[in-house]
Amino acid sequence: MGWVRDKSGRLHIETPLMAESLMDKALLESTEIEQVFRPLPDLNVIKLGGQSIIDRGKEAVLPLLDEIIAARDQHQLLVMTGGGTRSRHAYAIALDLGMPTGVLAKLGSSISEQNALMISILLAPHGGVKIGHDHLVQLPAYLALGIIPVMHAMPPYGLWEESAERGRIPPHRTDSGTFLTAEVLGAKRCVLVKDERGLFTADPKKNPDAEFIPEVEVTELLSMDLPDLAVERAMLRQLARARSVQEVLIVNGRERGTLTRALAGENPGTRIYRRI
Ligand code: ADP
Ligand code: MG
Repeated sequence: MGWVRDKSGRLHIETPLMAESLMDKALLESTEIEQVFRPLPDLNVIKLGGQSIIDRGKEAVLPLLDEIIAARDQHQLLVMTGGGTRSRHAYAIALDLGMPTGVLAKLGSSISEQNALMISILLAPHGGVKIGHDHLVQLPAYLALGIIPVMHAMPPYGLWEESAERGRIPPHRTDSGTFLTAEVLGAKRCVLVKDERGLFTADPKKNPDAEFIPEVEVTELLSMDLPDLAVERAMLRQLARARSVQEVLIVNGRERGTLTRALAGENPGTRIYRRI
């Protein structure tokens, strides 16, 4: 590769992206490929919901950990953790104090990390190890050693979290962090373990007439513009644009065996998929 000086006197390195602003639409289009490289195509990324599961304590958490321990011989697993009620408490105080979105995101991250610590400690007798975002690239080594890696699910936007469409709650929280992790690793499956059967037309806790949605294409779901959702809207937009992961499952972690069935390839809850 050589050096080239253009007419304006700017120096370039001769590459296909030479002298480009990286904003040109045709150039951006040209970077698409049939299939991006998938580093861990057999990995199952599982998020244990903060509010929906972990905050319910041992009654909800321990049976799920049993399912995870039983599954780890047959499946590669990465366990991720939400923040839950303590995040909401921190957000409420920060909102009252007039804090910007980036500060709320930072608060949410440390709380989902607290949950990763507790889940990894509970899994420790079976090889549970808490990992940080920087350790993701070491996952193959952890998996080869029979470790069950546990990582907090808040994505690392932190202080740089972008403003939300509405209000000041960080738009990229732990559903998004889980999905983006699965996507960059080219994972086989992304399972969100929550406390309802799956997705409904409205929050089933507030509306007993809400109808269950067993599966839905993600852009259709976005265009339904439901007033409330069991997953972050940002995560749905990420799935719509994903290059590797094709679907996200929402399963009811309070019903025994649903996680195991999801890992076996069934849809025991709601399947949100993108059209390929
Ligand atoms: P997590 O703790 O796993 O992040 P959340 O509490 O944030 O879970 O979201 C799951 C909750 O979303 C469910 O417990 C349910 O009460 C609520 N919810 C809101 N809208 C819907 C919907 N359309 N379908 C299903 N659940 C919904
Ligand atoms: Mg949530």
